[in-house]
Amino acid sequence: MTQTLPPIFLAAVKDLLGPRGWTQEPEKLDAAATPWRGTYKGETPLIARPASTAEAAALVKLCAQHGVAMTPQGGNTGLIDGGTPHGEVCVSMTRMTALRETDPFNNSLTIEAGATLVSAQAAADAAGRLFPLSLGSEGTATIGGLISTNAGGVAVLRYGMMRDLILGLEVVLPSGEVWDGLSGLRKNNTGYDLKHLFAGAEGTLGLITAATLKLFPQVQRASAWVICASAEDVVKLLALVRGRVGDSVTSFEIIPGNAVDMVVADIPTTRDPMPSNAPWRVLMDISQTDGAYARSLLESALEAAMEEGLIQDAVIAESETQAKSFWHIRETIPLSKRAYGAALNQDISVPVSRIPVFIEACNAAVRDVLPTADFVIFGHVGDGNLHYSVVEALDAASPQLKAKEAAITRVIYDTVMAHGGSISAEHGVGRLKRDELARLRPPAATDAMRAIKRALDPQGIMNPGRVVTV
Ligand SMILES: Cc1cc2nc3c(=O)[nH]c(=O)nc-3n(C[C@H](O)[C@H](O)[C@H](O)COP(=O)(O)OP(=O)(O)OC[C@H]3O[C@@H](n4cnc5c(N)ncnc54)[C@H](O)[C@@H]3O)c2cc1C
Repeated sequence: MTQTLPPIFLAAVKDLLGPRGWTQEPEKLDAAATPWRGTYKGETPLIARPASTAEAAALVKLCAQHGVAMTPQGGNTGLIDGGTPHGEVCVSMTRMTALRETDPFNNSLTIEAGATLVSAQAAADAAGRLFPLSLGSEGTATIGGLISTNAGGVAVLRYGMMRDLILGLEVVLPSGEVWDGLSGLRKNNTGYDLKHLFAGAEGTLGLITAATLKLFPQVQRASAWVICASAEDVVKLLALVRGRVGDSVTSFEIIPGNAVDMVVADIPTTRDPMPSNAPWRVLMDISQTDGAYARSLLESALEAAMEEGLIQDAVIAESETQAKSFWHIRETIPLSKRAYGAALNQDISVPVSRIPVFIEACNAAVRDVLPTADFVIFGHVGDGNLHYSVVEALDAASPQLKAKEAAITRVIYDTVMAHGGSISAEHGVGRLKRDELARLRPPAATDAMRAIKRALDPQGIMNPGRVVTV
């Protein structure tokens, strides 16, 4: 239910932020309360848009004084109902986008939380460096949102998740106090590492206003589209390639044949790079500072895999344009899946070695509940992270997916746990997985999280109801 804002609070916010810093226009409130997938709907009485750390701190202080709950929001691309307000004031970070500093010799840059991922990548590029995080929503997702969800993406295998890419943070705490933890240091052993508390906290512990990020040498990639006969072969291929080229493997994505068919049917300009009846494709990138060297490493790894019978066929991209066309298919799967029909989507992980048995066991368990179930299973297999979707065509004779959603979700989660996995690999918890996680994670972990939340946010005003209930 939308909060009724005390008039004195509203007047103070308007005065603090000025005419560009707030809105109550119904269409804008509606857009802020509608997430990317549009599968649920929130509400908000006010969008507040601070333009500086000082304004953000004063805004949070006002919320604390008046007991007003707030939801930090970046690009609103999150997938777990974390950044969509449900009655809270929406604190939109989209005016805080400044690049504060680049330091190529320290391999770091400091940027404000509302900047998009592509703008951080471009700033790194302009300094002759690489900021390696990369994912489908990078044109809209913001640095603050990516840190708060500890986002992953397609280069985790080599560079780690967002948590691994931050050196320092600036955060407005729920009291309105500012913690200036911006730092380019790689070694700083001075007690609890607070930045890691805010990474993955989904805005429940504070409002991130800026971050210092790690940069890396620029690289050139060689990309291959590979056909595999089984998930076992995909896992063995990953081990073989890593054994031969080490950390040069940047991305290793599994794509099912039916997802390629969906994309090609949905987007007339796409074409299957190598049509085949085999069930699996792998899209892999190998990166080196020298592109020709990357290509030679890729060629020799694929030859070895072919000799061992792990791959049926493969094509190496002849140009960056062709590499992008391979990646376009991978990135378009979520949209084309929506065009195909109804889908129940899960973002899960299991140890890489257990991926083949997990897929077999989970598909069988789902089919016990819904015998007609079909699947689209793709994702970052190099990280053990699958985007596991149960799908049902728009023209299904008797649609049942929606009615059986809760039972199917439960069997997926139980199968994930039985295989030593996690029910949220990279998207986070939000409101969507909060209660299931309270059931599945060790009670001591939930108790510790509650204690941290109470200590930092005793009034419970910072994105309440996400991650844990208190
Ligand atoms: C097409 C598509 C592809 C995607 N691919 C991937 C992928 O490959 N890997 C992956 O990990 N994720 C992926 N995602 C989801 C990903 O979580 C989000 O894209 C991103 O991390 C969220 O950034 P955002 O700025 O949109 O945050 P929002 O959605 O606005 O918010 C996300 C969470 O962060 C909090 N938050 C936002 N800004 C701040 C701040 N400044 N301070 C404190 N809290 C804040 C919000 O309250 C919320 O809890 C994808 C999403 C889409 C739509």
